[in-house]
Amino acid sequence: MSTPLPSSGREAAQIIEQLKGFASGDPRFKEGRSWSLSYYLDEDLEQFQAQAYQAFAGANGLNPSAFKSLKRFENDIIAITAALLHGPAQTCGVMTSGGTESCLLAVKTYRDLAAATRRVKKPEMIIPSTAHVAWFKASEYFGVKIRLLPLNAELRADVTQLEALINSHTVMILGSAPEYPHGTIDPIEAMGEIAHRRGVPLHVDACVGGFILPFMEMNGRALPRWDYRVRGVTSISADLHKYGFATKGASTITYRSMDYLRHQMFVQQDWSGGVFASPALLGTRPGGAYAAAWATLQYFGEAGYRELAARTSEAVDQLCAGIGQIDGLKLLATPQGPLLAYGASDPQVNIYAVGDQMDAKGWNVNRLQNPDGLHAMVTAQHLAVVPTYLADLREAVAAVRADPELAQKGSAATYGMLSHVPLRGMVKRRVLDIFSAMYAPGGGELDLAAGAAHAPDEPGEAHAATPMLERLMMKYVRWKSRRQ
Ligand SMILES: *Cc1c(COP(=O)(O)O)cnc(C)c1O
Repeated sequence: MSTPLPSSGREAAQIIEQLKGFASGDPRFKEGRSWSLSYYLDEDLEQFQAQAYQAFAGANGLNPSAFKSLKRFENDIIAITAALLHGPAQTCGVMTSGGTESCLLAVKTYRDLAAATRRVKKPEMIIPSTAHVAWFKASEYFGVKIRLLPLNAELRADVTQLEALINSHTVMILGSAPEYPHGTIDPIEAMGEIAHRRGVPLHVDACVGGFILPFMEMNGRALPRWDYRVRGVTSISADLHKYGFATKGASTITYRSMDYLRHQMFVQQDWSGGVFASPALLGTRPGGAYAAAWATLQYFGEAGYRELAARTSEAVDQLCAGIGQIDGLKLLATPQGPLLAYGASDPQVNIYAVGDQMDAKGWNVNRLQNPDGLHAMVTAQHLAVVPTYLADLREAVAAVRADPELAQKGSAATYGMLSHVPLRGMVKRRVLDIFSAMYAPGGGELDLAAGAAHAPDEPGEAHAATPMLERLMMKYVRWKSRRQ
């Protein structure tokens, strides 16, 4: 059921009440039930941030000389970020709307730098196969070809293969701290040596790690070096709206010097709307997000972030120990930050079916592929729910062992098919079909358990996706039976 534009305005309190009602089916992140997407602590922080956001909700950072307040926030945030990342005095950067914007910008910057200084016309970048999907998006958007750096047996970027991938078209190399799928830090020091020697820029994607790894290190956690202390690292992306606990819409990209950042900037001196210059991807830049991010950094301070990092490390350690004790499960890699991934160590346990059981117990856990797994983005808030999570996980594994049929049901069947069917082009087309159905007029939400996009309130309305997924499923079943 959609809500049309009313012919005349409605009463504010009633609108707010209705608005809040819509959240009833959302992930229960305020109770620590969600292991991705949201970073939440408590009501006090939320109220405080709402005030900061509201005070600048109408302010626009498009033109950095108009709203001096926003430029002030941006300057402070970039300086704080650069210091945390051990950047040299020349380190500079801009605020962006999120990690994806920061990653896209790095690719655009290095493509243009290589074009300007080396006349590179067919740009390529080297990224580990665990690079965040934003890098694949950047490749498509900006026409920069990907050379994939494979993983070694420990699911880490295999740096021994890096040098062979560098050629005259290479505009940048990427490492992650940590990579999203398994939570490991790429071998940045070794990558930096090669990047420096070959004169290729090295970007570190610390979108998820940037505002927690420095505090873990301050707490005495042993971590490899990955920031500007590593020679060869030329830029770093770090999201405030992840472990910085800022409200959504706040990330940073910093560069070792203006020699790089200049190539990110856009200037159109002849536009009839006036001489125009923009430092990042967006036009209008949301003042509220900058104010709230600035306020949040002041609210926690170093001690506050260290305390959050300590609770997070404790939760990660308890989860790793607990998962290690559940027969049939194993960690996919040794996590070096706040993220972890686990899969089945026993073919009798279908990990996607375990995921379905966890969903049914009220958790939101993400699925991984290559290899199959479940994911956890752990925050300080989760420390309190770790025992319940582990108890439920133990039960989930037992339920899946007791009923192997569960692997063929619900979303486990769909995930299994989507990640294992060898016809990847077909999977891509079908996913596109499903997305198109979701975004078509009257389109509903994606329900993988039902195998379709559907509009919950109006059965029969947006079911275009069902046959598409069914056809794919049938092809998959035929392919599987031919293999057996
Ligand atoms: C989250 C993330 C991104 C993308 O950030 P968004 O804010 O979701 O756009 C990029 N890289 C890594 C490693 C991430 O974890």
